[in-house]
Amino acid sequence: MIHYALGIDIGGTNIAFGLVSSEGEILFEVSFPTRNFEQPTDFVEFIHQFLSDKGVLDEIIGIGIGAPNGNHFTGEIRFAPNLHWKGIIPLADLFEKKFHKPTILTNDANAAAFGEKLFGNAKDLDDFVTITLGTGLGSGIIAEGELLYGHHGIAGEYGHIRVVHNGRLCGCGRKGCLETYASSTGVVRSILELESAHKSSSKLPSLEKPSAKKVFELAAQGDQFAQEIVEFTAEILGSSLADFAAFSDPQAYVLFGGLSLSGESFAQKVKMYMEANILNIYKDAIEIRISSLNDKNAAVLGTAASIFWKTIQSKTK
Ligand SMILES: [Zn+2]
Repeated sequence: MIHYALGIDIGGTNIAFGLVSSEGEILFEVSFPTRNFEQPTDFVEFIHQFLSDKGVLDEIIGIGIGAPNGNHFTGEIRFAPNLHWKGIIPLADLFEKKFHKPTILTNDANAAAFGEKLFGNAKDLDDFVTITLGTGLGSGIIAEGELLYGHHGIAGEYGHIRVVHNGRLCGCGRKGCLETYASSTGVVRSILELESAHKSSSKLPSLEKPSAKKVFELAAQGDQFAQEIVEFTAEILGSSLADFAAFSDPQAYVLFGGLSLSGESFAQKVKMYMEANILNIYKDAIEIRISSLNDKNAAVLGTAASIFWKTIQSKTK
């Protein structure tokens, strides 16, 4: 029997939500500016009315929400710096009270891991780590078929593992975090750094507004400066993934979004640097895959998948 779950992706700029079937089909999906909703309660009311108007309220078996600083255990968004809703927001609770359906709140990287496991490129894997390469770097860890939440519900902050001693200043206040290098903003910082190092010999005159996307495109066209940046990014990510393997022993890393959109060549470079730096016992044992959800709204799909996942888990226990 096909079930439907509501998947909601909350971002600082936009909120997207959609109805997803247990087969991974997105029935519809819409998006609104987050600032349309002054209070989180306005947002809950709005979605309820929206689904009621569409006549699909009773079809839903549960609600999955992905949000920055979303805590799975408490169902709260806590002090999200990029949201205009301030403080602690008991979002899962607000939805459950209004909809009377089970609601799961998690962060976007965990949602991406659920999506990959149920509908994407990790269906065959029970031990993998999804690495989301967007504005920042996030990770969702599936270990022995379970998502790893950790004791406080906040496991998987790979983006904030420090990989360069005394390196770039991170938004978290510390220095040298992986996401200050391996993310779209990290790549832009690499461009600016390398440009100022080269100064007079800067070879990227077309990059008035430098972006990671542009640099990857130029690298593919053979631009040397751009290739240097891509190489540097792949090296830092690959060597970090080599180290992270030591505590989680995954079958694969699945790269999602942003930098992974440039395709196989980047993944191959990351793999090469991972192999060059990895402990002997993990050699040739870990794959680097690219997400197959990149062209879909993985966040809506993934948050809905968290509901189906829970249903599957409760059946097998
Ligand atoms: Zn950090």
